[in-house]
Amino acid sequence: MPKTPRHYLDYAASAPLRPEVLDAMLPWLCGPYGDGYGNANSLYREGKAARQALDEARLVLAQAIGATPPEVVFTSGGTESNNALIAGLSAAWRERGGHARQTGRVISSAIEHHAVLEPLKHLKRDGLKVELLRADRQGFVQPEALAAALAAAGAVAGTGALAAAGSGTGAAAWPGAGHSVALVSIMAANNEVGSLQDLSVLAALAHGQGAIFHSDAVQILGKLPFDVQQLNIDAASFSAHKLGGPKGVGAFYLRTGTPFSPQALGGGQEMGRRSGTQNVAGAVGFARALALSLAEQQAQAKRLSDLRDRLAGELLALDAGIELTVDPRAAGFTAETAAASQGVAQGTSQSATPSASPATARGANQAATPNTAPAAAQAPGHQPSYLPNLLSLLIAGHESESLIMALDKAGVAVSSGSACSTGSLDPSHVLTALGVPRRAAEGALRISLGYASTSADIDALVAALKQILRR
Ligand code: PLP
Repeated sequence: MPKTPRHYLDYAASAPLRPEVLDAMLPWLCGPYGDGYGNANSLYREGKAARQALDEARLVLAQAIGATPPEVVFTSGGTESNNALIAGLSAAWRERGGHARQTGRVISSAIEHHAVLEPLKHLKRDGLKVELLRADRQGFVQPEALAAALAAAGAVAGTGALAAAGSGTGAAAWPGAGHSVALVSIMAANNEVGSLQDLSVLAALAHGQGAIFHSDAVQILGKLPFDVQQLNIDAASFSAHKLGGPKGVGAFYLRTGTPFSPQALGGGQEMGRRSGTQNVAGAVGFARALALSLAEQQAQAKRLSDLRDRLAGELLALDAGIELTVDPRAAGFTAETAAASQGVAQGTSQSATPSASPATARGANQAATPNTAPAAAQAPGHQPSYLPNLLSLLIAGHESESLIMALDKAGVAVSSGSACSTGSLDPSHVLTALGVPRRAAEGALRISLGYASTSADIDALVAALKQILRR
């Protein structure tokens, strides 16, 4: 029997390892391919070769995100990076007496990945207050909501959020026993609907109240420009397998001078921030995948957003009860507008001044308000924008799980916005936080494209869904 051709459309879950990446990794794994299999901390030839490869990989990552090599720490993936930073930054805040005066707070959003939400639950158990900001129906965390939450947490006299933000001094004021907010953590790009947050404005607001700003940047790295200097953020998390690198490899960025209490203790590798023998082949693979992604970033962003928009149009034209969870086409994507929405100017240096006015920043408390604000309510100057490769659908009258199984049978691999736990299908916390009704969220599908996606993949998905929804 001929094999059904496969159409893999779940790059946001994991991208297939790129063949060039595998080639780059082999010499650092075993003898026949090279002699770089040593421990990168050993003093003889095999160790020194491994150390050099690790240093080169670190340099690639650092240059890609606008950091210096010592600010890049290799980990086992996005989950570990998020856990290490959230625990390590808040522990350092406490150790420096941040907790002595009042109950400390951490502010994040309700649409974060579980790799952020779960470590936040731990902080809560340890006595910190955790506040999760709502996102609007289009998937955006409003700067006004953060400003209000920061203000409610207890403004510190003389450190108006926007005053300090505009000074461009970053986290210089942190930490102080008088500051009640230890950390603000808001993701760069949402993994279910693809919304790009206004990071430079959010970070500036956090800094204005003396808080550290962290961002889970797992879904954006390699797909759109992401520069920690231009965004003025203190910490960020990355993962290799979302861009064609190996699974089980990641990294975090930690700005020089940011107080941090390491969580993985042992031999003091990674500048003492993450002990454990380094995965040299993994780091080399991560760097190779990133270099390839960067080289083709603009062309792929355009190609994939064109494919995504065609897919959206054809699915809506089926008139089969398919709705777009958010409409990324409306944002009018170009690599430039997406970069601008992240506060990253391409080729020119970007002003550190946030686009929200002090008046709006001190406005009504939207954190407590239901998520009905339209995307247009975003800070002036912010272009609501989405990842170029992701499309989230709501399919009325169907359950994600059965749709995924039927599509799999037809040769198409996609995922849902839902997490399957103990046999029951819970609607995704992201879609629920966006205000998608439970019934609609139960029929969610996430389509995500990547470097090898083709027109034929889109055609196959449209044809298969047409068949399935007709039954
Ligand atoms: N953060 C986001 C936004 C993600 O999409 C993912 C993976 O799905 C992670 C973190 C976890 O990354 P990893 O699979 O490398 O642990």
